[in-house]
Amino acid sequence: MYRRKHLRRTYRKNTRRTLRKTNTLFREILFFLQRLLRRPFVKTVLLIFVILTILLVPVPWLITKITPSADPGHFGKSSRTAPFALAEIPKKVTVWRTASHKTETVDFEDYVKGVVSSEMPSSFPLEALKAQSVAARTYSLGKIQKSETGGNPKSHPEAPVCDSTHCQVYQNPSDLKSIKGSSWMEDKDGWKKICKAADATCGQLLYYRGELVQQALFHSSSGGKTENCQDVFAASVPYLVSVDSPYEDEATHQNEQHTFTVENFAKKIRAYCPKIAFGDIKSSNIKIISRSTGGNVEKMQIGNGLIEGRTVREALELPSTNFTIKISAGKITFTSSGSGHGVGMSQYGASGMAKKGYDYKDILAHYYQGTEVW
Ligand SMILES: [Zn+2]
Repeated sequence: MYRRKHLRRTYRKNTRRTLRKTNTLFREILFFLQRLLRRPFVKTVLLIFVILTILLVPVPWLITKITPSADPGHFGKSSRTAPFALAEIPKKVTVWRTASHKTETVDFEDYVKGVVSSEMPSSFPLEALKAQSVAARTYSLGKIQKSETGGNPKSHPEAPVCDSTHCQVYQNPSDLKSIKGSSWMEDKDGWKKICKAADATCGQLLYYRGELVQQALFHSSSGGKTENCQDVFAASVPYLVSVDSPYEDEATHQNEQHTFTVENFAKKIRAYCPKIAFGDIKSSNIKIISRSTGGNVEKMQIGNGLIEGRTVREALELPSTNFTIKISAGKITFTSSGSGHGVGMSQYGASGMAKKGYDYKDILAHYYQGTEVW
């Protein structure tokens, strides 16, 4: 009994001693810290540490939450953030193949690659190919959206898009291999460059005031100035307005001449416009009456008839409506510049801009005025 009491007393004594020791140690540490904090140097170091912690952790986090990614495409569609609702991009698209009269269902981004490689030479600069990728992606999505509400186009009711110039030219890798060769498929400036351009802009689309651009039209070259949409097609579109296209030096179809005898010219025009009473067509009654803002011929007088410049272009198979005429010795010579309808992005202009150091967003913002990439 005595032994047990003694042991208990010794235990209590030891515990009290340990507690006292711990308290003393704790007090000493506190005292040391107080003395340390009184030193100006330590105060400065602590202040810097606190400021750095605030700057390096919560502020960058806040910035990434508030502002959109500078180049969201590199991270795919899922990371796209915009101040408005973004268009939903389908995983697959069904394409009407005009040669085989069959539909082909492919991954949407593979379709974009097939369009870019068919619509723009892979020798063009990467930034121009990236601009083309965004334009092609936007244009086809516009078509798909339209078909969802109004049905597929009458010329191909089986699919929202076809593989011809009616929509956008599309060739799959198998077609491309047989057309361009297997070396082009392996070349870093061939198929791989097309894939690089499309992948770098993966999921990116053009928007105008928060709405998906429905008509991302493009053409080969404008001859120096693009066209207002309403001057070529019926309706005006706010982002398809005439702009200078100053870097088309390398464009094909510049100052291209086409000469016809007046008789042959008259024959072609009459055959193309059988309902118009031209009367007697002769050198003295062939005239350009008006031009558009972009410089294309709007109206021409031919004999007693008045016809549109684009009709003349189609009848004579001229590369563009940006032409002048010269009549002498019973012959009429058309000198045209540019190729295509002249509305939206000039592909050679895009190439020229890229060579001058502009990136794909600059190119798109120039040719589709007021639009932005998201
Ligand atoms: Zn089509």
